[in-house]
Amino acid sequence: MDGTSFPATRTTCPYCGVGCGVLARPSGPIAGDPAHPANQGRLCSKGAALGETLDLPDRQLFPEVDGKRASWDAALDAVAEGFRTALAERGPEGVALYVSGQLLTEDYYAANKFAKGVLGTANIDSNSRLCMASAVAAHTRAWGEDVVPGCYEDIELADLVVLVGSNLAWCHPVLHQRLLAARAARPEMQIVVIDPRRTATAEGAELHLPLRPGSDVALFAALLTHLADQGHDAPDAAEAVSEARRIDAPALTGLDPALIARFCTMFAATERVVTLFSMGVNQSVAGADKANAIINCHLLTGRIGKPGAAPFSLTGQPNAMGGREVGALATMLAGHLRFSEPAEHAAVAAAWGAPALPRKPGMIATEIFAALGQGRIGALWTMATNPAVSLPGSAGVRAAMERAPLLVASDVTRASDSMVRARIRLPALSWGEKSGTVTNSERVISRQRGFLTPPGEARPDWWAIAGVAARFGRADAFGWTGPADIFREHAALTGLVPEAGRIFDISSLADLSDAAYDALAPLRWGPRRYAPARARLVPTPWRPPANMADAVHPVTLLTGRLRDQWHTMTRTGPVPRLMAQHPAPKLALHPEEAAAIGAVAQIEGQGETALVGVTADPGLPHGVGFLPMHWSDVYAPSGRSNPLVPVAVDPVSGQPELKHAPVRVSPW
Ligand code: SF4
Repeated sequence: MDGTSFPATRTTCPYCGVGCGVLARPSGPIAGDPAHPANQGRLCSKGAALGETLDLPDRQLFPEVDGKRASWDAALDAVAEGFRTALAERGPEGVALYVSGQLLTEDYYAANKFAKGVLGTANIDSNSRLCMASAVAAHTRAWGEDVVPGCYEDIELADLVVLVGSNLAWCHPVLHQRLLAARAARPEMQIVVIDPRRTATAEGAELHLPLRPGSDVALFAALLTHLADQGHDAPDAAEAVSEARRIDAPALTGLDPALIARFCTMFAATERVVTLFSMGVNQSVAGADKANAIINCHLLTGRIGKPGAAPFSLTGQPNAMGGREVGALATMLAGHLRFSEPAEHAAVAAAWGAPALPRKPGMIATEIFAALGQGRIGALWTMATNPAVSLPGSAGVRAAMERAPLLVASDVTRASDSMVRARIRLPALSWGEKSGTVTNSERVISRQRGFLTPPGEARPDWWAIAGVAARFGRADAFGWTGPADIFREHAALTGLVPEAGRIFDISSLADLSDAAYDALAPLRWGPRRYAPARARLVPTPWRPPANMADAVHPVTLLTGRLRDQWHTMTRTGPVPRLMAQHPAPKLALHPEEAAAIGAVAQIEGQGETALVGVTADPGLPHGVGFLPMHWSDVYAPSGRSNPLVPVAVDPVSGQPELKHAPVRVSPW
């Protein structure tokens, strides 16, 4: 029997926030789902190779405690005892969960309810903090709720698409395919790319603005000023415009004034503009300001909530949005309900039977690992994430993990840099085995459906969380029999306080039957296009990047993704054809600098060193290098980028500045 004889299961790709629908079989070809609104049958190289990742090596097949195989009962007993001890010794501030945009919404919901409702701590943060926390903060400052105002169709309807800090061609390839197809059909459409590097995306653009790393606020200040001078106005615009007028865009961005003027003229002359922004905007100490500077230009011109007109944040992870929906970030409560509103707090406390529900935000990702290193956190549970590779200052993160009194890790692989440091290892389900929902960048909720038999003793994350909650005497509140139960509870929570007027209200789905949940078709929450009734332009004064090149570390090291790799390569690394594009980490430099360095470079920063091959990239300016962020101890220990990146976070969003770091590069 060949693979195509099995009926296909409709599911969703696990790699990026585009959220493509996939038709999957236990063996045989994986195909794009023509009926899914995100991709309409398309897949990128990673999605098309999903069929080669169904039998991953180094699976964690059973629980382990202190390096020894344990039963699930014994492992969950040990987790509960460790958290109980940490709570007794340090209080709710002394425990934490660090979760992931890889979790399904149901797992995310369970983790948030356990942290805030059972442990009584708000110390639950997600690796989504590294991805889009700045966009969340910007949306909330501009219109009071984390709502992305556009949909993917707007990208196709726009006459001008501006990409800021987004290498769409490599990081959200199916959206890039949709963009290029739309331009082919309507050649009058124009594309502008704003990025220090001339990326694959910039190659296909009408205009590329190679601004200095971290200077986006200055460029959008010039645009806001230009638009105001053209007569555009909006309520509350005066302060933001006057702040923008103080900023010297050519000096700060390093761009030719004529280039800035050309961009401003294009934007001002086009009604249908979509501005897509991603990690290059968000991963900055001014990430929220950058996003608000973009949003300000759309609000001033009314280019929002209309066909082909929106500022549009692209999420990196498949379910970054789902984590925002359930509130599994230290700065959120639950279901778009807020710590700061007493009625919303009381409603969640009552719904969860949680009188000790925390009243204020907890520690964000970088704070959790700093506290772990300082002994202030006694128990940490990580799920579906690899902080020993992905966090900035990752050498310090590793040391903290090794010193932790209790580190619990739930994951699929036992070989990751983080799993090997955990005292208790729990075997999680992988893509194709687990079942639940994810939400993509355009607010479309899609089902991920299991079609494979879980190997060994792997279990859903929500099931493990419920097992520990039961050991805290809360079996009543975690007695779910499957993800449909959790989804219904989550949906009901979003409608608890209708007078809060939250756009995110999916309480109409709280009565979904099991069969209807199983059959759930992709479904958008909120309006297709959101034009906020009340929005404010946020003044965004110039603040320089925290991580700047200096005399000792004269090279600015950009970090980012490769087309064919995902995160820390735990899924894509074992696939030979995905490794073929870039089989080893390489530092890209301007061709003259690459020639001067030779075949292998030593990169020094933060007291750490990386040794990598060198490649020439004419798309880079002098003094700027690019190093992919994917490599780990498993694939190239000397090629890890994030030990070189200093820890600096946006004071508004808490998002770390991961995009650029000061380093010294020398021949090896
Ligand atoms: Fe998967 Fe993203 Fe590629 Fe779509 S674009 S197939 S969601 S990795």
